[in-house]
Amino acid sequence: MDGMLSVIIPAYNEADIIVKTLDAIFLTLHQHNIPHELIVVDDGSVDHTWEQITAFADQNPNVVAICFSRNFGKEAAIFAGLGEATGDAVAVMDGDLQHPAELLPEMYTLWQKGFEVVEGVKANRGKEGICSRLCAHSFYRIWKIFTHIDLSGGTDFKLMDRKVVQALCSMPERHTFFRGMNVWVGYRRAQIPFEVPPRAGGKTKWSWWRLCRFALNAITSFSSAPLQLVTTAGGIFFVFTLVMGLQTLWNKFSGRAIGGFTTVILLLLMIGSIIMLALGIIGSYLAKIYEELKGRPRYLITRRLDRR
Ligand code: UDP
Ligand code: MG
Repeated sequence: MDGMLSVIIPAYNEADIIVKTLDAIFLTLHQHNIPHELIVVDDGSVDHTWEQITAFADQNPNVVAICFSRNFGKEAAIFAGLGEATGDAVAVMDGDLQHPAELLPEMYTLWQKGFEVVEGVKANRGKEGICSRLCAHSFYRIWKIFTHIDLSGGTDFKLMDRKVVQALCSMPERHTFFRGMNVWVGYRRAQIPFEVPPRAGGKTKWSWWRLCRFALNAITSFSSAPLQLVTTAGGIFFVFTLVMGLQTLWNKFSGRAIGGFTTVILLLLMIGSIIMLALGIIGSYLAKIYEELKGRPRYLITRRLDRR
């Protein structure tokens, strides 16, 4: 079966490198005679990414280009691409050549053999600092505790069968987490490890603040377990209350109730911070419900170009 492959490439301020990436993908697909279409989503870039994409589309067939009205984020760009793709198989890859195009034929062959999701997993984490390695590791550990899904080494570099894409597109939530949702849907899966090369140009779009928001969204989208933590903390503190309460009463009635300010201050601080933390956790879920209730579109498209 020589099914058509759609390749989705989200791009945000990638003017330096987007054409190089598209060329590499095109070349690989041509060399292996894989019928294809490229779906490039410009996520509201403020540099010349859109001009570069349209110039490329003018010279090559089977390119669809979409431009968002502003930066809606990589998740929105991926889902816009999924909605647009018409292929029997659909691949998602970054626009900075950190996801090697040469792996596409191998992924495609695995799909032909019957695997419905073929995922590129990081064999190493590239030239990453110790701090970001540690943060990524902690995120995956916490994520696994809360959701029982193992995402370590996972990337957004995936090739999926049409039915997986349909399943993903039928999920109505506004705050998507592609990597998690993709595992959640199940299906027959295969993994291909790859070395992450350094960015071929431009720079990463993920600040620490953005990564933290992404991690928080990922966890709260998939698990309500943090809410149960509030109950657990309440239970633990109730036991403390009983013990300390009995001790205080005993001191009072035996005439030894003097001093004790250190305990009072420590207790106040501890309980205060636990309550704040609990309110914060509840607040983030409330915010999520509020966002979902508003039901706004995930993205707005301002320009499009279809060369299929
Ligand atoms: N990206 C996007 N919208 C954003 C941020 C990133 O479409 O708001 C794209 C970006 O252009 C690239 C991919 O997502 O094609 C991965 O981003 P990046 O390379 O900055 O992430 P990293 O590889 O550092 O995790
Ligand atoms: Mg990158």
